[in-house]
Parts: sequence; C-alpha cells; structure tokens
Amino acid sequence: MSILVVGSVALDSVKTPAGSRQDALGGSATYFAVASSYFAPVSVVAAVGDDFRAEDRRVLEDHHVDMAGLAIFPGKTFRWVGEYGQDMNTAHTLDTQLNVFARFSPRLGPDQRKRPFLFLANIDPELQQQVLYQMEERPKLVVGDTMDFWIRGKPQALRQVIANVDILMVNEAEARQLTGETSLVRAARHLLRQGPRMVVVKRGEYGALGFTADATFATPAYPLETVVDPTGAGDSFAGGFLGYLAASGDLTLDGFHRAMVVGSVMASFTVESFGLERLRSLTPEDIQERYQEFWRLTYFGSPADAPLPVGSPRLPGRRPAGARRSP
Ligand code: AMP
Repeated sequence: MSILVVGSVALDSVKTPAGSRQDALGGSATYFAVASSYFAPVSVVAAVGDDFRAEDRRVLEDHHVDMAGLAIFPGKTFRWVGEYGQDMNTAHTLDTQLNVFARFSPRLGPDQRKRPFLFLANIDPELQQQVLYQMEERPKLVVGDTMDFWIRGKPQALRQVIANVDILMVNEAEARQLTGETSLVRAARHLLRQGPRMVVVKRGEYGALGFTADATFATPAYPLETVVDPTGAGDSFAGGFLGYLAASGDLTLDGFHRAMVVGSVMASFTVESFGLERLRSLTPEDIQERYQEFWRLTYFGSPADAPLPVGSPRLPGRRPAGARRSP
C-alpha cells in the first residue's frame, strides 16, 4: 500500500564533531521518502526553488519516489543550518530560511487524495492541515511530526494537526515543550488526551517509547561506535515505521511495536554518515541483517521458560523460590 508525505525538501548545512557539509540534500520529506522507499511506494508533496540540483532530484528518482507533487518555484529552496555539540541528541538550529515554502500551497492530484497512509512530516502545520483536508477519505493511518520552530511559531494550527492524527511522533524535548510536563510518561498521556491514538517519543541514542491508552513499548537505539550526523534520524525513523506498516498492512499493537524497531533500524543507518550518504545506498540485506541484530540485542527469552529466581530476602543456604534443584 502506498504512502503520501508532505514535508520539507531542503538544502542543509550541518556541523557535527565529525565534520561538516554545506547545502547537502535534506529535509523531513526527503529522509522519510528515502527510508520508506525500501518498503512501499511513496509520493512527495513539497516545494523546491529553481536552484534545486539535478543530482539531488536523482537521489529521489533512484528510490522511485513519485515527485508529481514536487512544485518548482522561481527562488531558493528551503535551507536549514544546524549544529551538534558533544550531545548528539540535540540539534541547535542556527538558521531556518523557508524561501519557496513561504508561498507554497499544495494541491493534491486525484490519485494522491486516496493514499491509505499519510505522513505529515515536519513543516508548517498549516500546510500539514491543507494536505489532510484534501484527502478524499480518511486514510487508514495518519502520522504527524513537528519541531520546536513550529511549536513556538504556529501553536494554534499545530494543536489542530495533533487533534487529527492517529499517531504523533515527537522527540523528548518537543514532548515536554508541547505539554509543560517533565515526565515523558505524563507528557505522552497529556498528548494522547489531545487526539492521537498513539504517541511515539524519540529519544536519540536512548531509543524510542511508544504509548497508547493501554500499552507502552520501548525500543533501544542501535549501539553505534560513532555517530557522524544525527540529522534526519527522526524522519528516517518515521520512514521505516510507516514503510513497514504500509508494506505489512499489520495495524495491530504487535505491528506497531515491530514498526518501531524498523524505524530504529532505518534511523541507525542515517546517523552513520552525513546527510543521506548511507541511507540512500542500502541493500535489502543490510536492512534485514540489522533488523536481526535488533532482535538479538533485545531478546532475553520468555519469563515462562526461565522463571526469575527471586524471593523474599534470604538466609544463607536457602534456595530462592523458583530456583531449580540440581539433579
Ligand atoms: P530530524 O529528523 O528531526 O533530524 O529532521 C532533520 C530535517 O528537518 C533536516 O533535513 C532539515 O532540513 C529539516 N528541518 C529543519 N527545520 C525545519 C523546519 N522548521 N521545518 C521543516 N523542516 C525542517
């Protein structure tokens, strides 16, 4: 089943302790589309300027991303300038230039209005709403993302978006900023009351937490020796998450849990290099292998097969309850 994404297609200038890149292809819709393209067909709704390079367009074409909805305007492509210090979980935005996005008003084609999976990637919440309202019928699943720039800049419109998504994805700082809660569990509960059926809180190197009204899931981040550039990790996570759900059609709680692992797999590739350098050149085997590694990383058997040998505080020489007598 196919996916529609509205979000930014950008030229990013990024500095991290591992080095820097100037005007490299980025943007929330770009990372999402490339990550999800390994699982399901994806169409992008976004705008670029006439400075958008043919080689950047080719990256998306090589991943068979449908770009019928990519508008080209005279002027400059969206630009983001960011920096990471030793704490790679926090991006410091140095500059955001909306450029052609300041006058972009998306018009969906008849085909795009029927897509069963919709990702409202990080972009002006008014644009996110315009896309949502043009859908002919309610998609099977609407997932939304945002960031501090819009939480501060367009709080009203953002509230409406949050009320209309099935799943909200935010990082931990955004969850706290949106709710004023310091506890992530309380922040997630607060956000669930605003409309979404599920809230996913991304925690960088600490993994991600998923909350529904009656379940909580956790997935770790893949333990990498070197994180080169975290830019796009959140959007790649969303691309793996929704790509998996669109490909499998499994919208059960177990399916959502697996989707979070696939999201973590795709994010782990993104952070291994600058920009899309690693994410764009993966093979299906790379993805399968890392998915297996996640399983090994988190598997500790079933408590039914290996009961925990715990009991009340013990006197020396006494066996704890549940401990097996040796033969
Ligand atoms: P993340 O996955 O959160 O690291 O997203 C990184 C991407 O978000 C970068 O490639 C930026 O181009 C893009 N971005 C940064 N600020 C904004 C913004 N205010 N609106 C939309 N996209 C943005």
